[in-house]
Amino acid sequence: YNNRLQRHEKMEIISELAASVAHEVRNPLQVTRGFIQLLCEKGDGKEKAYLQYALEELDRASGIITDFLTFAKPQLDDVTVLRLSDEFEHIEGILVPMAHLQGGEIRVDVEDDLYVRGNSSKLKQAFVNIIKNSIEALNGEGKIEIRAYRELDDVVVRVIDNGHGMDEDELSRLGEPYFSSKTKGTGLGLMVTFRIIEVMQGRLEFISKKGVGTEAIVRFPYASSE
Ligand code: ADP
Ligand code: MG
Repeated sequence: YNNRLQRHEKMEIISELAASVAHEVRNPLQVTRGFIQLLCEKGDGKEKAYLQYALEELDRASGIITDFLTFAKPQLDDVTVLRLSDEFEHIEGILVPMAHLQGGEIRVDVEDDLYVRGNSSKLKQAFVNIIKNSIEALNGEGKIEIRAYRELDDVVVRVIDNGHGMDEDELSRLGEPYFSSKTKGTGLGLMVTFRIIEVMQGRLEFISKKGVGTEAIVRFPYASSE
């Protein structure tokens, strides 16, 4: 028992440390990327190829931070009752510009009195990872619809896209660490998301059809606002 408690405390210290390191590392990564980009524009031949690899690896490092620790706060996770519409206001602020950049459109329809129990940063991380995948799956005239409503004792959130979709094999591998079909993917986003939702006593399932689109369905136990 004693051992287990210590292990848990160690894990908390490690994840706090990771969160603060992520924040500190993101800026220098961006600055470095800028300088290498400059060199890359001037360079030629072999030099350019090496710099291109360096850029790709830098992007991989940023991708890991984004998938794992976008909202991570370097303090012990506090769990409270969260109002879903407030959380989604923040999520929208980040993702709508990202969708526009890809030529996509996002519609968000979150009912007013939906409450869930959890940690605000983690909840946002979970949905950003799901929705970012939808944005990345869009090609051209993409649309993403986010709907949240109450169904008996559940709060249901559905993220529906008309992106490229997945086949059975891809679907069955979702959440597996390092499974990614993208050249610059980390394959860590959904692993983190499944874990966060599980800890919140929620469930996440995917329905998808190749060439048609994907739907992510999340269910949480409804929490009263008290
Ligand atoms: P990454 O985005 O870094 O590849 P994720 O864990 O976020 O890693 O996703 C794993 C894989 O699941 C993606 O590479 C993609 O193949 C597939 N996937 C997830 N969401 C969708 C979606 N909405 N539409 C199509 N494919 C998806
Ligand atoms: Mg992803």
